[in-house]
Amino acid sequence: MKAIRVHAPGGPESMKLEEMPAPTPAAGQAQVKLEACGVNYIDVYFRTGAYKATLPLTPGMEGAGTVTAVGPGVSDVKVGDRVAWSGIIGSYSQMHVVPSDRLVALPSKLTFKDGAAAMLQGLTAHYLVTSTWPVKKGETVLVQAAAGGMGLLLCQMAKMRGATVIGTVSTEEKAALARAAGADHVILYTKQDFEPEVKRLTGGRGVDVVYDGVGASTFDKGLNCLRPRGLMALFGAASGPVPPLDLQRLNAGGSLFVTRPSLNHHIATRHELMHRSNELLGWISEGKVKLRVDHQFPLEQTTEAHRQLEGRKTTGKILLIP
Ligand code: NDP
Repeated sequence: MKAIRVHAPGGPESMKLEEMPAPTPAAGQAQVKLEACGVNYIDVYFRTGAYKATLPLTPGMEGAGTVTAVGPGVSDVKVGDRVAWSGIIGSYSQMHVVPSDRLVALPSKLTFKDGAAAMLQGLTAHYLVTSTWPVKKGETVLVQAAAGGMGLLLCQMAKMRGATVIGTVSTEEKAALARAAGADHVILYTKQDFEPEVKRLTGGRGVDVVYDGVGASTFDKGLNCLRPRGLMALFGAASGPVPPLDLQRLNAGGSLFVTRPSLNHHIATRHELMHRSNELLGWISEGKVKLRVDHQFPLEQTTEAHRQLEGRKTTGKILLIP
């Protein structure tokens, strides 16, 4: 089988397509033939070494495919099942082994591409709007990079829960996508300072919650956009990591809250994984949440997929087809 390998941390070119033996499932694992792999920003952090992993490394945390073999003791899935997962590194590959209790059955209405597009960003958007800050009707939320993979899902889910959504994006094309996903107001933060614009849009009050996966370039101004006792949910660092924060800044800003959440802490148990997946895949099956797969590449072109992601050239979901 073929898989992407990184032997030393580096740029997109550090990812090579290599021939490898197919992995065999150990106890509690299932072997899956992948039909689609999701590309996520976390794959960039692993590739560059910002997140540590044993080398050589096969990046990729998300995929969907068919179970081809199971190890001893596996009873929750069987050969032939259509499944999807997130949070299991090594997914940029034609075959993968995944702990069977991390696999989610794909509903019949959903394709493999839907599964690979939904899991990581969808479950993240789910926990951000239902658990990190359970968005309520009448609230106002700010979504940074609103046309990205995470952004489009956050706009839809916050809107579903009755919020007014303000999104930031870099281009007019992205603005149109954010609006179509439910953003009531879109700010081109490359052309306009988003902080005074958010203040204007909220009549000086500020937003209840900021969802920020951009990080370094938006964090500080994002804090200024919060109403007293609002929450900054910093969930990523596409523009680089946020420098250390003086906690007094939270007092000065109005008894603000800050959190830095991760998906793996929100699907740690089988129960929580299934609860969130059932709700998410249900919304997608019913058409309440729409996936946008805007970019697909064969595994051979993984380098190009990362170049476009880091170059802010992508919108919605990026898939690799192995
Ligand atoms: P996106 O599709 O959102 O791509 C990143 C976007 O960030 C770009 O398209 C761009 O949008 C914006 N951006 C702003 N500045 C920069 C910059 N300097 N370099 C690159 N991009 C920039 O990616 P994902 O949806 O995969 O991920 C979004 C964020 O969510 C990431 O930080 C990721 O780590 C995080 N994440 C966190 C999870 C968690 O549980 N904590 C789980 C999943 C994702 P624009 O051009 O409009 O500015």
